[in-house]
Amino acid sequence: MNLSLVIPIYNEEESLPLLFDAIHNALDSLSRTWEVILVDDGSRDKSLDVLRDLAKKDPKHIRVVAFRRNFGQTAAIAAGIDHAKGEIIVLLDADLQNDPADIPMMLDKLDEGYDVVSGWRINRQDTYITRTLPSNLANGLISRVTGVELHDYGCTLKAYRREVLTGFRLYGEMHRFIPVFAHAVGAKIVEVPVHHHARQFGEAKYGLERTFKVLLDLFTVKFLLSYSSKPIYLFGGTGIGIIALSAALLIFLAIRRLFYGISVFSSPLFPISAMFFIMGFQSILMGLIAELQVRTYHESQHKPTYTLRETINIE
Ligand code: UDP
Ligand code: MG
Repeated sequence: MNLSLVIPIYNEEESLPLLFDAIHNALDSLSRTWEVILVDDGSRDKSLDVLRDLAKKDPKHIRVVAFRRNFGQTAAIAAGIDHAKGEIIVLLDADLQNDPADIPMMLDKLDEGYDVVSGWRINRQDTYITRTLPSNLANGLISRVTGVELHDYGCTLKAYRREVLTGFRLYGEMHRFIPVFAHAVGAKIVEVPVHHHARQFGEAKYGLERTFKVLLDLFTVKFLLSYSSKPIYLFGGTGIGIIALSAALLIFLAIRRLFYGISVFSSPLFPISAMFFIMGFQSILMGLIAELQVRTYHESQHKPTYTLRETINIE
């Protein structure tokens, strides 16, 4: 199998037949073997019935994975990837906002040697204030924090070489960070403009609150990327910083006592300094506990702390 499309679906009954036609139009002329993994994320409308019909109509290409309840877009994408057989995996939304006609162009980019081709909705057709603007701000922030510069993390339409999708699991709303995880295992990433259409059927499943979830996820991602194999550097570093602050306060109090005779213990700065000392000490202890967890994490799952490109003369 050469190509797997993975599509998360939650209440998209009207869009699905049109999506099916659009996919055939885009892929039939390619000389690749392909499949579509449609993941029904516990839809409450007739989406699953429509999927059953489509699967009957085209058993060669259509595969369906159905959740028992709504687990969210990220879980749906993860399940789709788990069931995909292709060497190339393309993710896209079911609501026809992404255009399957862009896929052949993205595959050409992969053939040029890239591992990730990231869609960028240059003419995004969503409400500006609640969707596009927060998303633009988030993209800038994510690019800065992770060092992976992309204009459109939120665009689901992206193509991946399978190898760069192994070695990490997706939690929360983290599907948008897949390029960051891929970059961490050494993937070459390129960005391409893709079409974007206004939603024709059904309704958008998210509102402004998603921005906050994305921000919180960004903390986790940054931590995992930078410190997951050496948490003591973060916790211990913070701890040492806070203890230094505590020491600076004490020195200040001592100097004041020596030269001006002002009592150390009567100053509110004294208990503050003591508090800083305890906080710093605890932060270092937390770092040690995290170090234990890192060892459990890597060693219980036989997860190496590195990724290989290739080996030569090694059995
Ligand atoms: N989706 C899903 N589970 C959910 C919410 C959404 O599988 O809990 C799917 C939805 O059917 C669509 C895609 O994820 O195919 C993106 O959802 P939506 O269009 O609402 O989001 P946006 O276009 O604003 O990113
Ligand atoms: Mg959409």
